[in-house]
Amino acid sequence: MKIQDNCVVAIHYTLTNDEGDVLDTSEGREPLRYLQGHGNIIPGLERALEGLVAGDSANEVVEPEEGYGPKQDMLIQAVPREAFDGIDVIEIGMQFQAQTAQGPIPGTVIAVDEETVTLDGNHELAGVRLNFAVQVTEVREASAEEIDHGHVH
Ligand code: ZN
Repeated sequence: MKIQDNCVVAIHYTLTNDEGDVLDTSEGREPLRYLQGHGNIIPGLERALEGLVAGDSANEVVEPEEGYGPKQDMLIQAVPREAFDGIDVIEIGMQFQAQTAQGPIPGTVIAVDEETVTLDGNHELAGVRLNFAVQVTEVREASAEEIDHGHVH
């Protein structure tokens, strides 16, 4: 059967950026199983897989807008160093929750000095064009319960 809404789909995939670095892969693991049409995976990939059948392979390029979104400057915040009271060492790459007026935002430290820590709350794949090599291994109808729950059992 063809991939359509309310199908359970199993895929093997390798995700690379435009430089060819592997960002994620199902190689050596169980294939990824998801419920088509329920936002289980990024919209650009879900749309690209529609109509494929088990055994099909595809290479799909997903732009950031259809992937993890563009990088948003508003998610990059300078937080006073004293907000990290009790933490002796703060280094680039560490992850924290920034307490903001909008609530806690998780962020990665991208800059730090005596007074300020700059946190980037963007998803690490925001702004990245995603190149998927996908192989469809299984397509089946979802059960009524899976459709009701919006995920694969
Ligand atoms: Zn469930």
